[in-house]
Amino acid sequence: MTATIALLGHPVAHSISPPMQQAALDALGVDARYEAWDVAPGEVAPAVERLRGEGVLGANVTVPHKVELLGRADQVDSLAEQVGAVNTVVPREGRLHGANTDVAGVLRTLADAGVEVADAEVVLIGAGGAARAAVVAMRAEGAARLTIANRTPENAAALTDLGGDGMEVRIAPLDSGSPLLRGAMERARLVIHSTTLGMRHGPDESATPIPAELFAAGQAALDLVYIPEHTPFLRAAEAAGAQPIGGLGMLVYQGAESFRMWTGLQPPTETMFAAARAALSARSAEETAQ
Ligand code: NAP
Repeated sequence: MTATIALLGHPVAHSISPPMQQAALDALGVDARYEAWDVAPGEVAPAVERLRGEGVLGANVTVPHKVELLGRADQVDSLAEQVGAVNTVVPREGRLHGANTDVAGVLRTLADAGVEVADAEVVLIGAGGAARAAVVAMRAEGAARLTIANRTPENAAALTDLGGDGMEVRIAPLDSGSPLLRGAMERARLVIHSTTLGMRHGPDESATPIPAELFAAGQAALDLVYIPEHTPFLRAAEAAGAQPIGGLGMLVYQGAESFRMWTGLQPPTETMFAAARAALSARSAEETAQ
């Protein structure tokens, strides 16, 4: 019997995960279909019950259901609890285990780029869902100090509780004239961008919250935005001699970690990168044609 892996989200039609995960399953000869389930708010409970059915290997969970799954899985791992979101579900002996692989996605992307986070000072721009995974990743990796700058300071303040284990968390205004932000940018080994600025169809596709003059040569700049691959934030970093790192790695590696959990197999990450890039190009061509 062909097994099922589901993606629970709303909307899900344009997700990159189905082509990326199906390519990985096919490459390793796993007899499974990765299906997008469009689950409207209010319909999460029956969708989660379907995951208990025979032949279901697991699921991904995306916006807007990641937080609700925390309370609907039978058990959640410590990273999912810290981030406050479940993006992966694995059925084991009739129980649904909720996990979060976004943290692994951030860390593997940085490791690939040769960025050492231990004892480093880090600046994080943004304080939404993706930012939470980044804070937990920085703490797990032993960053010394994290400065968070966000348009709405209260949302940044809400993330300070995620510090600990020796990582100090500070708040700075998201204002390029702020001495607090400028000082943190000067000292930072790594700057992570997690707002929707610069994202296709986001609030402003041409904007970067950090101009080139604030970056320092040699520091690493990770943008969690992955559409487009080369964002205004990355271009500003590059212009200042910083090392630009795109967000596609996080997308692929979080998926790879989920794949490993469902199948117990080593995920074919090269295949996943190629499939994700092909899906993004196809989507872009479709939009241009419209
Ligand atoms: P979210 O929870 O909605 O958070 C949005 C963030 O953007 C908040 O910090 C918000 O600030 C800020 N923002 C929105 N409009 C703004 C504006 N006009 N000016 C300044 N700041 C603004 O979104 P999310 O889920 O964290 O996603 C954020 C980005 O990360 C998206 O581009 C998403 O595609 C990407 N992402 C990538 C991956 C990956 O695998 N690479 C995974 C998850 C997300 P306020 O708090 O002031 O509203």
